[in-house]
Formats: sequence, C-alpha cells, structure tokens
Amino acid sequence: MTFTNCTRLNMKYIGAHVSASPGVSKAPVNAEAIGAKAFALFTRNPSRWTSKAISDKEAEAFKANCAKFGYTPAQILPHDSYLINLGSPDAEKLAISREAFLDELRRCEQLGLTMLNFHPGSHLKLISEEQCLDLIADSINDALERTSGVKAVIENTAGQGSNLGYTFEQIARIIDHVDDKSRVGVCIDTCHTFAAGYDLSTPEGYEDTWRQFEEVIGLNYLSAIHLNDSKKGLRSRVDRHDSIGKGMIGREFFELLMKDPRTDNIPIILETPDESLWAEEISELYALASRP
Ligand SMILES: [Zn+2]
Ligand SMILES: [Zn+2]
Repeated sequence: MTFTNCTRLNMKYIGAHVSASPGVSKAPVNAEAIGAKAFALFTRNPSRWTSKAISDKEAEAFKANCAKFGYTPAQILPHDSYLINLGSPDAEKLAISREAFLDELRRCEQLGLTMLNFHPGSHLKLISEEQCLDLIADSINDALERTSGVKAVIENTAGQGSNLGYTFEQIARIIDHVDDKSRVGVCIDTCHTFAAGYDLSTPEGYEDTWRQFEEVIGLNYLSAIHLNDSKKGLRSRVDRHDSIGKGMIGREFFELLMKDPRTDNIPIILETPDESLWAEEISELYALASRP
C-alpha cells in the first residue's frame, strides 16, 4: 500500500520497529510488507560502541525506498543504541556516550531524518537524580549544537534499575535545561508509562495521565508513541512489553488511544514481542481508529 498523503489532517501513522539488516534501506521495505505507515529502526548496531559508516549509496537507497513506499520523515523514528548513557556518572563512559549519540544524530542527518529517539540515562546510584538529569540535558545541548535539523526525542522509561525519565517531572526538568526547545521532544512508551505508575488501564486513568502530561511537560512536546502492552503491573517499575491487548493495560486503552486526536500525525511504533503478529496488530489498530 502506498501512502503519500501530506495534506489531510488527523492521520494515524502506525507501524513497528523493523529490522534494518543487512542495511538501512531494507527498513522501509520491511515496514511496507506489514502494512505499516510508520517505522522505527536502528541505524547502527544497538549493542556495539562502534559501527561502520552508512555509505552514500545505502543512504540514497534508503531515501529512494522511503519515497517509493510513501514514508516521510514524520513517519520514521530511529532509535539510538542501548549502550549510550547521556547521564553517566563516569567521565569516560559519558564521553563515549556523547560521541556515539552525536554519531547517531549525524546518521539521521545523512538519511534526511528529523527525529532520534533515545532513553535519557541512568545515575547508577553514584550521583543524584538531579545531577544525572542535568548531565543528560548538557549532553543533549552538546549534540544539538553540532548538528542540525534533527530533534532529540526523549523516551519515558519504566524506571527499572536507576533509569531516569520515568516521571513526567524528570522529563520536564531535562527539557527545561535544553537550550533549543524546538529540537527536543518526547516519546511516550505506553508499557513504560504504566509500569512507572500512570494507570492507562482505565478511561479515568487514561485522561488523568494526559492531563498530567499536558500540565507537567506540555502536549507540544509529544513527538511519538511506542505502543506496547505490559506484562508487569502498574508501578512495577519493570520493563516487559506485551502484545496489544494481551497484557495488564488491556484492550480498552488501545481503542482510546486510536481514537485520540492527540496521537494523530506522529509515529506510533509497536515494540511488541511477537513480530509475527505485527501485521495483524497494525490492521486491528487501524480498524479501531476508524470505528465510529
Ligand atoms: Zn520503547
Ligand atoms: Zn521498553
């Protein structure tokens, strides 16, 4: 299915985090194959510090495939490496994290992409939460100054271990310290949100969560959604994704989100554990979105 609609408002861009192997140009092909209108990808190996550069030929092939299948940058959300800790209390680790994050942003520039999704960072119980949040903001400022056109999209976390960004207040503090507010955004991972203690499983909890998001962060920063159910309970602080409607958040939530204009025109990315269900999950979500 091709999709090149730029003029109609209120579109839902639903997709999944697809494989970019053997090269990034394969990601839009994989996304199209499951009926996705959005996709996430890793532009480098997510569990290694070094990764070879993307060749110009590969970057051109990526752009050509995106154009062919109708994916604009607004529908594409690259995810950075898991190793990066922009709030690391260790000077050496912080330096290599910043270097790798800069490389991630430059890869986005090279591919003509406008967003990079990342996990804020961890204090490892060696510095205070505030110190860690401020280091993260400094890291973002440093990377934004040396790049252009790509927004740093902070993902909220489940608060597992010493990962920060599990409360809206923590995310607001980071944004507050970012100099160029036009180049920072937020990705709400629904599993993480629930595990962190925001009760998305009831209509009242759903509305209350968005009310808090608006009051504490501001809806203008909402840049993407990671759409996952949760295997673990409310406030468990454990990050275990589940397939849509099969976990503790439950089906009603997904219907609310699909009908919610706040999630229009931003990438909505499945990171659900069973890849074989993605095509079905995407079509079911589109059915929910169009249900009267
Ligand atoms: Zn996520
Ligand atoms: Zn997660």
